[in-house]
Amino acid sequence: MSTYALALPDGDTIQYQLERRPRKTVGMHISPQGLIVHAPNRITLSQLEQLLLSKANWIRNKLQALQENALAPFQWQDGAALRYLGQDIQLSLRVDARNRAVEFDGARLYLALPNPDDDATVQRKVAQWYRKQALADFTRRIELLSARLGMPTPQMFLSNARTRWGSCNSRGEIRLHWRLIQAPPHIIHYVVAHELAHLKEMNHSPKFWAWVEKLCPDYSAARQELKALSAQLHLV
Ligand SMILES: [Zn+2]
Repeated sequence: MSTYALALPDGDTIQYQLERRPRKTVGMHISPQGLIVHAPNRITLSQLEQLLLSKANWIRNKLQALQENALAPFQWQDGAALRYLGQDIQLSLRVDARNRAVEFDGARLYLALPNPDDDATVQRKVAQWYRKQALADFTRRIELLSARLGMPTPQMFLSNARTRWGSCNSRGEIRLHWRLIQAPPHIIHYVVAHELAHLKEMNHSPKFWAWVEKLCPDYSAARQELKALSAQLHLV
């Protein structure tokens, strides 16, 4: 068995183990070690990779689910550790006859509600708070960085897409995942730079990466860091 790296059109790579076998069809499955491909002896590597590319979304979804399952599920309880801009903050739950507005003092996020044991409500309120912070933070970053590229400020929407942190479209709109607000600022900076660069170049050519680098000289490290962090950011 040997290890290969499949290069995706968006610049990402997927590692896989390849085993040649006397068989007629290509088989793939996700193991705890990642993607395993069984291929007939006859198929060439480029034919095989063509096939894998057509299944890239399926593979990515499976790999991400695997990473998430490896992590303990989040416990919505008083004192639980949340992340905000790369910092650990503490969830503080308290019983109150009425639903109180969420408060944040820089270290703790205070929720007061009639039933703090109701995980779904707690989760919804925390997500609402994150979305509000995300909107303010991402808007400001987009304003600053688009000005640096000398372009008008694009419209931004929050997204909840499962496998991507950011995207943009031909109307010049940018979508950023609200869960990104948990990541350290330099990671958010990279994702914003990446999407703004797409408004200059709608591909992942060297020209595109040159625009990214202009805004984010350390983009390569940030990209790796985000990849490593992804499963954790999806926990909450
Ligand atoms: Zn991209």
